[in-house]
Amino acid sequence: MKRRIYSDEHEAFRETVRAFLAKEVLPYYEQWEKDGVVSRDAWRAAGKQGLLGLAVPEEYGGGGSTDFRYSAVLAEEFTRAGTPGLALGLHNDIIGPYLTGLATEEQKRRWLPGFCDGSLITAIAMTEPGAGSDLQGIRTHAVDRGDHWILNGSKTFISNGILADLVIVVAKTTPEGGAHGLSLLVVERGTEGFERGRNLDKIGQKAQDTAELFFHDVRVPKENLLGELNGAFVHLMTNLAQERLSIAVAAIAGAEHLLEITTEYVKEREAFGRPLATKQHIRFEIAEMATECAVTRTFLDRCVEEHSDGGLGAVDASMAKWWATELQKRVADRCLQLHGGYGYMSEYPVAKAFTDGRIQTIYGGTTEIMKEIIGRSLLG
Ligand SMILES: Cc1cc2nc3c(=O)[nH]c(=O)nc-3n(C[C@H](O)[C@H](O)[C@H](O)COP(=O)(O)OP(=O)(O)OC[C@H]3O[C@@H](n4cnc5c(N)ncnc54)[C@H](O)[C@@H]3O)c2cc1C
Repeated sequence: MKRRIYSDEHEAFRETVRAFLAKEVLPYYEQWEKDGVVSRDAWRAAGKQGLLGLAVPEEYGGGGSTDFRYSAVLAEEFTRAGTPGLALGLHNDIIGPYLTGLATEEQKRRWLPGFCDGSLITAIAMTEPGAGSDLQGIRTHAVDRGDHWILNGSKTFISNGILADLVIVVAKTTPEGGAHGLSLLVVERGTEGFERGRNLDKIGQKAQDTAELFFHDVRVPKENLLGELNGAFVHLMTNLAQERLSIAVAAIAGAEHLLEITTEYVKEREAFGRPLATKQHIRFEIAEMATECAVTRTFLDRCVEEHSDGGLGAVDASMAKWWATELQKRVADRCLQLHGGYGYMSEYPVAKAFTDGRIQTIYGGTTEIMKEIIGRSLLG
């Protein structure tokens, strides 16, 4: 089915992204996977190319477009290239809205130009060793000391954790406030008492620096409160829809790409004297996956449109997230099986997609939590 959501401008942007990947990312990616982190030069190059801060107003150095289709193109192309390590989507689509939507004028002037030129890499730190799905269990806390807070606690699994220059930390500011006692505090690189732990050893996304963060009596100036005091929960709920859509967009692009690769593979590979593609079981596998991808693509494109037209609802975003990421996981597993032993070799794109993609049903809210949100909306 022909896709209808992109104009010539979006397709021209796709060419820019492809050229950027070919020049600035793919030649270095293997090395970044060995290093466990991408180079800061790549972030600078992305800034120079206009790939950072797509939705940030032009006066702060951004692209000035709230059309989410550009973000979708970026996510699709990075997924197809198999390069999730350079986490532009996290920076643009997940963290960007907190800064553009909640920052004061002074904060915008302080942070957004660097956000857009690639000199200021960002992270968001919600998860803790004892609190992932259940954010109310957060123990990191900040005590009010007049013109500043004293922040103590730790976070884990933080994407861009090693490279980040600016971390939005979810912390308890009112101990007895429950979900409504949490605030967003911005901690900047070099602040005394802010330390990074291990760059965590993951089964996939090897070039992505995912780290532990520690805060020991960190002095956070009051000017670094982002949004409302005790308002973090509402701010998170507002912005999580875009985060989930962004993950879902990458998921369907990943599934489609795997299907393309595998379709070619089964046409080439022979067994029992004939191509695999001639066997009914293989044909049914491909037919089923193609159908599931096509149906999912239709819903996802509708979600992207809806979001570009003013904002996707939390329930629709949850549906898109769990459905598309579970599809990606299923397709990755089936495509790997169709590659036989070669599918298990790291040098094959299908093997890398299998491990890189596995996290998709977990971060940004697990499949189970997405179903909880949907269930709550229907059943109370
Ligand atoms: C590579 C990677 C990158 C990440 N990046 C970030 C980041 O940048 N910032 C950040 O803050 N976090 C990040 N995370 C953390 C991620 O969001 C959490 O891992 C995720 O939310 C799940 O939390 P948890 O790991 O504590 O699992 P748990 O919450 O302990 O869940 C364990 C299992 O129990 C299930 N479960 C939990 N509650 C329920 C329930 N009520 N009903 C049914 N099932 C339930 C879950 O679905 C899951 O299957 C990242 C994680 C990884 C691995």
